[in-house]
Amino acid sequence: MMYPQTELFIDGAWSAASDGRTMDVLNPATGEVIGTVACATPADLDRALAAAERGFRTWRKVSPFERSKVLREAARLMRERAPRIAGLLTMEQGKPLAEALIEIHGSADIIDWCAEEGRRTYGRVVPARAEGIYQLVVKEPVGPVAAFTPWNFPVSQAVRKIAAALATGCSIIVKPPEETPASPAALADIFRDAGLPDGVLNLVYGNPPDISGYLVPHPVIRKVSFTGSVPVGKHLAALAGQHMKRATMELGGHAPAIVFDDADLDKAAELLAASKFRNAGQVCVSPTRFLIQEQAYQPFLEKFVGRVKSIKVGDGLAEGTKMGPLVNERRVQAVDTLISEAVSQGAKLETGGKRIGNKGSFYEPTVLSGVTGDMRIMNEEPFGPVALVAPFSGFDDVIAEANRLPYGLAAYAFTSSAKTATALGQELETGMLTLNHLGLALPEVPFGGIKDSGYGSEGGTEALEAYLVTKFVSQSGV
Ligand code: NAD
Repeated sequence: MMYPQTELFIDGAWSAASDGRTMDVLNPATGEVIGTVACATPADLDRALAAAERGFRTWRKVSPFERSKVLREAARLMRERAPRIAGLLTMEQGKPLAEALIEIHGSADIIDWCAEEGRRTYGRVVPARAEGIYQLVVKEPVGPVAAFTPWNFPVSQAVRKIAAALATGCSIIVKPPEETPASPAALADIFRDAGLPDGVLNLVYGNPPDISGYLVPHPVIRKVSFTGSVPVGKHLAALAGQHMKRATMELGGHAPAIVFDDADLDKAAELLAASKFRNAGQVCVSPTRFLIQEQAYQPFLEKFVGRVKSIKVGDGLAEGTKMGPLVNERRVQAVDTLISEAVSQGAKLETGGKRIGNKGSFYEPTVLSGVTGDMRIMNEEPFGPVALVAPFSGFDDVIAEANRLPYGLAAYAFTSSAKTATALGQELETGMLTLNHLGLALPEVPFGGIKDSGYGSEGGTEALEAYLVTKFVSQSGV
């Protein structure tokens, strides 16, 4: 399969950067250069801003009913083109092809859901104090959006922003990740072929701080949406605040996965092992701190480690691969440093703990026990294939540990007690909680965090709210 050279998509057309500059794109399974991506200059960004401004003026006048048709056609095209896009995604990002396909089909579902929900951006009529007066509350699109999306789910993270923006009548400039540019670039063709007017969706790549530093303060941009790390999120939120731009921040996590003595341990081990090592652990909602009640600790650990040892690591394009490489060498170094530091402070490697081979950025699925709260890995998001396992004695202890960190994105728990389940729902400081199963990230449910994990939501009706402003109109008969 050919890997394309990715250009900038501005005003409905692909073009090279105005100065011709490009960056290399690597295949993380081989370390080889497979293509290039264009690096936008300020002149390119000016073109994108002008296009987004024009695109907004056109698109906001298109009825929600007609917009919905464009989105649904885009979802259909996405499913039709899924095999090719999934291939690109695996080549540039590393995840197994089966996971890439799930991401593409899940993204089509998000587009479909936003297509439907966009037709229901209802306002309301507030009863007036005098006869003949109509008090209307109207929902309007916020305006042109600047969106910054990450490499771990290059298609679905972009789709979450694009679909909600388009469904509500906004235009959008997306800066997808330079590490994985080609799979999100396929979205531009899909929406154009589905009938989206020129300028409504624009894609630019380049130096991330330069692009956000230019777009966020620009007067054309009315909203900022970012998915990525906490430090970058805080920086962009501050910049957005300084320029009074609406913002959605979907940042990192350090999810607790709590298993009580009374839980179904086989089910917990099976589901948590599958979830932890999906996308090589490079998932913001990945279970990370495995907090296991004392009696369940040893049996859970044995079952869990047994499952982890059976995970087949390899090239995502190879048959039978269950876990691919990390996205780049930088991630291998970051994960390896956190693990080595923890081991030097007394943590025990139950399995894994080393990079694999000397070609590509592969790392062993790793389980660390004996971890303590003073280790850096128990405080910073490892964002890699490592599970940290520690025992707890009672409900209050585990809540204290779960809530100890400034993150608050996802939490998981397994218990057969309805009383414990209810109490967890009340006490955990988290944006999302899933009990006795894994049930996050569906298009129709909210997706987002609290505390340092950010604000705003990228699922459910909340996803569209983020792109709407409220206008009040009071009207008297003439
Ligand atoms: P990073 O902090 O260097 O970059 C994270 C993302 O932000 C990248 O896509 C990058 O291109 C972008 N970025 C960086 N500086 C930016 C700026 N000034 N303006 C706009 N975009 C900018 O980290 P990394 O090594 O690429 O990724 C690892 C970390 O990123 C992880 O620890 C994790 O916390 C976070 N991350 C989170 C998610 C998520 O889904 N929430 C996804 C990917 C990465």
